Amino acid sequence: CYSNREYLNAESAALCQEARNRLSSSLLTEQRQVRQSLPLWRQRQKIVDMIAKNQVIVLTGETGSGKTTQVPQFVLEDHELNGTGAEVRIVVTQPRRIAAISVAERVAWERGELLGKSVGYSIRLESVPPRPRGSILYCTTGILLRRLQGREGVSGITHIIIDEVHERDLETDFLLIVVRELLQNYPSIRVVIMSATVDSSIYTRYFDYCPAIAVPGMMHPVQVYYLEDLPSLMGQYSFIVPKFPKARIADDEEVDVDLIANVISWIAEAFAQTDGAILCFLPGLDHIIMVKERLLKMPGGRRLMILPLHSQIPAGEQRSAFARAPIGLRKVVLATNIAETSVTIDDVVYVVDSGKMKEKQYNPALNMNILRVQWTSQASARQRQGRAGRVRAGFCFRMYTSQVFGSMLEHQIPEMQRVPLEELCLQIKALAIVATETTPSGGPSKHSNIVSFLLKALQPPNINAVHAAIRLLQDLGAIDHLEDLTSLGMILAKLAVPPRFGKMLIYGALLGCLEPVLTMAAAACFRDPFVAPINKRDEADRMRESFSVGLSYGSDQLALVNAFEQWAAASLQGQGLLFCEQCFLAPITMKLIAGMRQQLKKTLAEAGIQEQSIRLSVQASIHVARSLLVAGLYPNIASSEFCRESRGIKHAPRWRLGFKVRNDRVLIHPTSVITEKQLNPESHYYLVFQEKVQTSQVFVRGCTLLPPLPVALLSWKVNLCSDPVPPELPGDWMVLEVEGWLKFLIDRRCGHVLLQLRE
Ligand code: ADP
Ligand code: MG
Repeated sequence: CYSNREYLNAESAALCQEARNRLSSSLLTEQRQVRQSLPLWRQRQKIVDMIAKNQVIVLTGETGSGKTTQVPQFVLEDHELNGTGAEVRIVVTQPRRIAAISVAERVAWERGELLGKSVGYSIRLESVPPRPRGSILYCTTGILLRRLQGREGVSGITHIIIDEVHERDLETDFLLIVVRELLQNYPSIRVVIMSATVDSSIYTRYFDYCPAIAVPGMMHPVQVYYLEDLPSLMGQYSFIVPKFPKARIADDEEVDVDLIANVISWIAEAFAQTDGAILCFLPGLDHIIMVKERLLKMPGGRRLMILPLHSQIPAGEQRSAFARAPIGLRKVVLATNIAETSVTIDDVVYVVDSGKMKEKQYNPALNMNILRVQWTSQASARQRQGRAGRVRAGFCFRMYTSQVFGSMLEHQIPEMQRVPLEELCLQIKALAIVATETTPSGGPSKHSNIVSFLLKALQPPNINAVHAAIRLLQDLGAIDHLEDLTSLGMILAKLAVPPRFGKMLIYGALLGCLEPVLTMAAAACFRDPFVAPINKRDEADRMRESFSVGLSYGSDQLALVNAFEQWAAASLQGQGLLFCEQCFLAPITMKLIAGMRQQLKKTLAEAGIQEQSIRLSVQASIHVARSLLVAGLYPNIASSEFCRESRGIKHAPRWRLGFKVRNDRVLIHPTSVITEKQLNPESHYYLVFQEKVQTSQVFVRGCTLLPPLPVALLSWKVNLCSDPVPPELPGDWMVLEVEGWLKFLIDRRCGHVLLQLRE
């Protein structure tokens, strides 16, 4: 009978033999050659030694140098050959789902294996786990955070590799705090922080001045030109460049699409003898469309193959950006910052950088997201420039002056400082490792532990945003006035959807109308599944609106519920893809929503929340689900009003229906299915919305129109009544108690609501 130790030793010996075979296998020659050509290969021993000797190290190297694929393999191979292979379990986090899968597949191939042996991946709703010992797991950051929250914790993991930290996404910054807190209690664990930016000092400082290693890259040189260099460069064409100083170029909001189109067409002419694609970075879809239109009107427009690349255009259309241009055509990719790091186009030689990007910034005082076009950071500008040097020496044309470059922020603002934080705060409370802080006298601390936890972040969030999140969680009943997690909060944390939607799910289950609410909550976790090809936007808008026909009150959420149900029915008959194509839906997102619904159902059942055995009729459940949006999204309510709209001197002013949030006017976002045509100017409407966004004006997104009654009822802090249904009521009534004195009863058959005051 083996002891545990003997068992591990035997397994390690087997892994050692396997690793030796792999090294000499003639089947893996190609893999070996590819790996040995990577810049990281030469540093292999140094990296392995540094990891062995230090609890934390920071490793930097440019995109493509081999960090993600090689570092975990170096560690595993080293242990395998030293006869301790069975003792390591390496977890590598990725901010993006797609990256986790494709990298895992690549590494399995490099090791001559199929996924699921020594290499695996795990992302939400999908995983191929590797064997428990002697293995590498690529997972999304969220998956590791969840695991650390659970009972399993960090046990069994020997190495945590946090990848792509330069992206500064919310979850990675959160993971950095958690991991730093872990270090003391787990002295044997090894942590590697990996970044594509040159500057590692911010991370080494964070980890108590830990050692760092920078791996030199293999990029080709890229010649950079600023706006002021263009006139002399372009000679007779220099008339296309505006004269200096020109105020509008320095303006934060402006993007000079004419200049950009001119420069692109000049590059195509001036470098006609040499091939190579042109990649142009623009802030968003509207600018992409404008530049495309201008290019097509130019004399050389017919010789260009113009390809837009943006996260909201269908996947098929996106893939064409990777195709090679036919002979005689110059490929021009018009992209957002998606092409900065997430997507690599191989044949780019010329980069035209507008210097602008769109960024959302949450304003807690206004409870509003502000979406603005603004200057990128210097780090982004360098990353954009680097995209030109992948195949050979390249050129980068910056559509701004060197002075503007000098005034740009060094790095982008981290996501933690830009987004609402309620989901993060809830997750913090659910983390077992956050000790409850106490005052010297032993009582609870005045400082909330959420705040003190977040102060430990690399760049802590705005304190007002944290307080706004805490208030919202208290309003939802997820945490109490001492900021302790309530039993509702524990369920909401497990559900892992935005907490507002988590609460709607619980109501939905109790009121017997879970199905539509599941779809709404699942959809809230992913991108909008409605995607429009650039040349069919009107058609796509009409299609989306058609899903709301038949609803007595327009609703974006219910239109989506409708689309999902029709898709699910079509999928059962093998027509799912066709349906998506006809209705401009992204099939991947629809599948994710379907998977998420299943998971949510399971989590609810595990938490002991069963759907009422008596379900509402389909019609009634739609009515109740719509009302539940108020319960979850309150106080995001707007009410209708008539506004006088002046339309310039020539036109008479006209009256139109608008909406107000408190005293501020808002507009329904153009992507909404609710249009003015559907509204009766004589009636009064309420509108519940998911998000308020400021662009050129203030818009509300994710909207549902409502009659006044549910608004009046559900905008209270509603507590579900635990009393049994009073015996005098017929069987199908559900009781809700509001703030202890108001009771209302819902007829489950028809969604009818009755009010009852308590003495
Ligand atoms: P880094 O993490 O430093 O950006 P990676 O380890 O991801 O670099 O990639 C190293 C090299 O491996 C890349 O330059 C690329 O050529 C290749 N590679 C990585 N992933 C894939 C993949 N999924 N398919 C094909 N080649 C890949
Ligand atoms: Mg990488």
